[in-house]
Amino acid sequence: MNSAKILVVEDEEPIRQMLLIVLENAGFDVQCAKDVLGARKSIAESMPDLILLDWMLPDISGVDWCRQLKKDSSLKELPVILLTARGSEEDKVRGLEVGADDYMTKPFSPREMVARIKAVLRRTGKLFTKTKVVVNDLILDTDSYQLSYQGRDVPLSPTEFKLMQFFMTHPEKVYNRTQLLDNVWGRTAYLEERTVDVHIRRLRKVLSEHGCGELVKTVRGFGYRFSS
Ligand code: CA
Repeated sequence: MNSAKILVVEDEEPIRQMLLIVLENAGFDVQCAKDVLGARKSIAESMPDLILLDWMLPDISGVDWCRQLKKDSSLKELPVILLTARGSEEDKVRGLEVGADDYMTKPFSPREMVARIKAVLRRTGKLFTKTKVVVNDLILDTDSYQLSYQGRDVPLSPTEFKLMQFFMTHPEKVYNRTQLLDNVWGRTAYLEERTVDVHIRRLRKVLSEHGCGELVKTVRGFGYRFSS
């Protein structure tokens, strides 16, 4: 879980290559697209953790696509950093108005870019720099893949662990089945929505056996919420 997936959308080959090298060296898992069409395909295959999106693209502009993404209920939480050669204040405001999580003006230093990406990932809960996620008496260790409640081990399957990791890093928010499928299983997995229910039921059963089954709540008509 340490290597966050970054989707780079940039039409200029040299810049795309530069970004690819810098990000891979920083330990990220990188996918590239040269336009929005390519980016959409890439997302359909594998959901990134963040999009580095160039403003000027040949098909749809980065700003327009960013606006579309932020209106899409299943994609709006995907962090976007807009890249542009423009630097006026007006453009910055526009970039942030369409919902971009951050904004960088070319040319920028690779170090600054990596730092900004990490900051956005940290803010959105996508960067697990700490190997332990602690919520009250629950401790989830992403190094040893163990969950414990009040000091007792809670044995989980890999899928239940991933679900729990997602819930614990996104507490108090309601997620519907599609969002959980995208975030926990990824878009490559073409699964039925009831798969989510099956795994939630199993997860709850294990949690209940350890005295904390009430943490995963059903929000009738919407989905599920992790709430301590
Ligand atoms: Ca461009």
